[in-house]
Amino acid sequence: MNSVSDCVKTKLKINDSVVVNSGSNRGKRGKVLKVDRTKGRIIVEGVNKRNKYLKPSQENPQGRMITLEFPIHISNVMYFCDKCKKGTRIGIEITDKSKTRICKSCSKSIDK
Ligand SMILES: [Zn+2]
Repeated sequence: MNSVSDCVKTKLKINDSVVVNSGSNRGKRGKVLKVDRTKGRIIVEGVNKRNKYLKPSQENPQGRMITLEFPIHISNVMYFCDKCKKGTRIGIEITDKSKTRICKSCSKSIDK
């Protein structure tokens, strides 16, 4: 394990398409639902789903099981470029007015 600094640098944002490139979820693709830079973790739609038991409450006196996406480490995912059809790295293209995220392999703009 690498030591994790206070804040993990990532160019990924919510709603980006990503592919998991290591661990038990390897090869799975999904949309980013949440990025936690402090913890270096990311929640990806449909990836790392686990059952969670909800304790009984007034509405659910029996308690119940729900399926939730659990966070995975940011370093385990890559941006999925639909032009390259694979996980790629994100680059930054700086123009006069703005910074745009691009696919490092094909230079396709990520932010439309
Ligand atoms: Zn690409």
